[in-house]
Amino acid sequence: MCPHCATSSGEFKLKGFDPVRLGLRLEQLVQKNSSRKYYRFRATRFYGGIATGDVVGCNLRCIFCWSGRARDDPRLGFFVDPEQAFNKLHRIASQHKYRYIRLSYGEPTIGWRHLVSLLDLVESSNYIFILETNGILLGAFKERARDLSRYTRLHVRVSIKACSPELFAKLTLAKPEGLEYQLAAVNNLADYNVSFHVALFLSYGDDKCWQNLVNRLIEIVGPRIVDNIEPEYLVLYPNTKRRLKFYEKILGIKPRIVYEP
Ligand code: SF4
Repeated sequence: MCPHCATSSGEFKLKGFDPVRLGLRLEQLVQKNSSRKYYRFRATRFYGGIATGDVVGCNLRCIFCWSGRARDDPRLGFFVDPEQAFNKLHRIASQHKYRYIRLSYGEPTIGWRHLVSLLDLVESSNYIFILETNGILLGAFKERARDLSRYTRLHVRVSIKACSPELFAKLTLAKPEGLEYQLAAVNNLADYNVSFHVALFLSYGDDKCWQNLVNRLIEIVGPRIVDNIEPEYLVLYPNTKRRLKFYEKILGIKPRIVYEP
């Protein structure tokens, strides 16, 4: 049985959780003072090579997500303070001669104190920090976007999960209004002049739906947003396959574009 669905007249209907509430609740569980729960540290090939800290906990439940159990289960992982995290990332980056570092796997904006302390350390290094985020908490709390504006060695990538509120609910299992937080994040980052771009998860939704979404982004940021849009697609990693197998039938939804890893 789908834990985020309810049945009515024999049909599955999404209940949709509040991703801001979940984010704040998780923050209490995966952050202690400025330490945050991690799952592992590793070198990855993205961005031409990037040192990556995989963090525990995300406030969405995307049905196409590649992350494993530590995405949903805050009991997993181990606490790491900002200095330790920076040192681990630095060690990986210098070993592989990488310029970039990031947090991945879960949502890096959950555990704000940890994140800004880590960014303080990055600021006095030669690295660029790529903040890959679903943007929900940056949209809900404008002051978080303002905090980011003081960093010069930071670039934010906001991954927009769907082109309509209905599709957002189906793909993330959160309430449809959650999409508005993602758009508010774009607005807040633009208002505070933070370096950022958006990635659009194009595997679901038709061209008309995505054109409407792009029009909303143009209204928010202006036409320049179009120059930097990154298309993002579903990749059939093992965890993705497992989730899709479960949810596709329940939700009656199929991707239009899919890639093998
Ligand atoms: S795809 Fe990203 S935002 Fe969605 S559940 Fe996975 S980690 Fe969270």
